[in-house]
Amino acid sequence: MKVAIIGTGYVGLPTGVGLAEFGHTVTCIDREKSKIDSLMAGKITLYEDGLEELFHKNVQAGRLFFTTSMQEGVSKADIVIIGVGTPPHPVKKEADMKYVHAAAIEMAEHLQGYTVVAIKSTVTVGTGDDVEILIKKKNPQAYFDVISLPEFLREGYAVHDFFNPDRVVVGANSEKAKALVKKLYQPLADKTTMLFVKRRSAETIKYASNSFLAIKIHYINEMANFCEKTGADIYEVAKGMGLDNRIGPKFLHAGPGYGGSCFPKDTMAMLYMARQNNVEMTLVDAAIEGNRVRKIQMAERILKAVKGIEKPRIAVWGLAFKNGTDDCRQSPAIDIIGELLDYPVEIIAYDPKAKESAYALLGIKITYAETMYEAVENADVLAILTEWEEFKSADADKLSALMKNKKIVDCRNLLDKETMLAHGFAYQGIGR
Ligand code: NAD
Repeated sequence: MKVAIIGTGYVGLPTGVGLAEFGHTVTCIDREKSKIDSLMAGKITLYEDGLEELFHKNVQAGRLFFTTSMQEGVSKADIVIIGVGTPPHPVKKEADMKYVHAAAIEMAEHLQGYTVVAIKSTVTVGTGDDVEILIKKKNPQAYFDVISLPEFLREGYAVHDFFNPDRVVVGANSEKAKALVKKLYQPLADKTTMLFVKRRSAETIKYASNSFLAIKIHYINEMANFCEKTGADIYEVAKGMGLDNRIGPKFLHAGPGYGGSCFPKDTMAMLYMARQNNVEMTLVDAAIEGNRVRKIQMAERILKAVKGIEKPRIAVWGLAFKNGTDDCRQSPAIDIIGELLDYPVEIIAYDPKAKESAYALLGIKITYAETMYEAVENADVLAILTEWEEFKSADADKLSALMKNKKIVDCRNLLDKETMLAHGFAYQGIGR
């Protein structure tokens, strides 16, 4: 099949590479010329485990193409996937559909023959209807169906999740469109559930899922606060809870709050849509507020650890919003650093992958180290903010020798508390 993907970002690129690996001929379109130039020159534009190898393999096999031209990508396509961003609206608290609408209008005139237009971006409920109207208006002759094909991949695991999705949700009102999507995902037929629902249900499933996960994180963080007061250990509590099949073990890791390009904006958009429809969503509301406060609480912990030290040197491990990605959008680490920078502190940070994207947000407000040990040299406190694997193997003797004050605020519970205490560190984890 011939597939065009509009938007070659964290969703569009792994999806394009994955579909090419299935054997489809894929053209990834983006309006950012520098991105397309880079991809055409064989240089990958984002980090995802395993993506680069598959990218080169499929380019060489002649199945994966890049262009800035809608005409080039869309006119031959059986399926056009829209994967552009849906950031928060600058004024209202809803998600902004302007890029989705623009993509629909720009591609409409290039549709040829029967085409399925699949909306993969996370979109407000009813956007499928709007896109259908926009395309018809621009190109009344077009023969097409608009479907909702929400994306559930996790950044950091995008390649894994593409090939092993828990489910593929398809919101389609036409049998012809359903048949084409089945063909698109044929290689997954034996290993995943394809759920066909109404278009508006598919749009809602995405927001309902992300809001639920955000609530789960907020809940375990509040439970961690409770454990700290009562002497229980959140790790043990989460394990005990997670063994209950009704609860499940995932998203029960207490930490510095959720972040990334999805949960913060999707919870806000969910709440906005609920209010627009006069529906109360107290849990989503509480998760949003709790998550905002959470990052302030983490900054306060770090500042408390260096209280009384003039211009303390704070070492930060981790800038990305989670491990396995270079994405710093709405990263708790960035927000916590932002809080810390309200005070006279010096921050030196290390992240194995996210230095460049963090620099785009923080610039020279902080210093960037090349290794995790360089970051802690002469530090008064070490704050661990992202759960990168390499931090787990930190050598306590080395830390001890390098740091000026032996204090650790481990917001990800990565280090072994007993080992750190045995090495004379004042160690504070989360919920234990
Ligand atoms: P992104 O910002 O990384 O990429 C979007 C790309 O679209 C950009 O490269 C931009 O230049 C391009 N673009 C915008 N308008 C365009 C146009 N008219 N024509 C061509 N290109 C255009 O965004 P992302 O993280 O990939 O997210 C895309 C969508 O997927 C969002 O709705 C997001 O909520 C959703 N989503 C993201 C994730 C994730 O983990 N990032 C997971 C699930 C769903």
